[in-house]
Amino acid sequence: MVAAGRHSRPAAELRVGIVSVQGAVQPHAAAIARAGAAWAQVRHPEDLDDLDALILPGGESTTISKGLERVGLYEALEAFARSGRPVLGTCAGAILMAREVEGVPVRSLGLIDVTAVRNAYGTQVDSFATVAQGELEGLRAIFIRAPRLKRPGPDVEVLARVDGWPVFVRQENALATTFHPELTPDGRVHAALLELAKKRQQ
Ligand code: GLN
Repeated sequence: MVAAGRHSRPAAELRVGIVSVQGAVQPHAAAIARAGAAWAQVRHPEDLDDLDALILPGGESTTISKGLERVGLYEALEAFARSGRPVLGTCAGAILMAREVEGVPVRSLGLIDVTAVRNAYGTQVDSFATVAQGELEGLRAIFIRAPRLKRPGPDVEVLARVDGWPVFVRQENALATTFHPELTPDGRVHAALLELAKKRQQ
């Protein structure tokens, strides 16, 4: 079991929650610690108090969705996002951030105006690494049974693409990657989340 990191917290330090229903929590915690912020696990609505930003990690979106439903986290996450605090969803987390999920009945939060297609890269090449194109030069992206994001709406900023498909998107305070930024030493995606949190505090 993983506990919250850094118990004695300086007043100005940002605190990032990581939804810990199912999926890859620990690598995100390490990435947040590397970026100089504190982190805490989120399992229940009350865990969201006192957080500056939130991460919805990868895993299995259907399993995470059932878990969120069971503990009443959907409404709490929606309220958290509405408060303007930034949220980053990675892989399964990106599916849960989408407006619509194609083909499977996964309840999503509708924070980013895209349609998510689960396991869109098929079974043969369901995991691969490549360099994404976009403003973040040389961004190495690891895809594990990744979704594809289709039909980005006019308010969606596409920050990186692979083969023309959006792989890193932003809509206001919501960020999503279809790859796993927590699995590479490149901290720029987590830094973007912290940057949004800092801006909100100013
Ligand atoms: N295939 C998973 C899903 O559809 C996502 C995989 C991941 O998060 N690495 O939920």
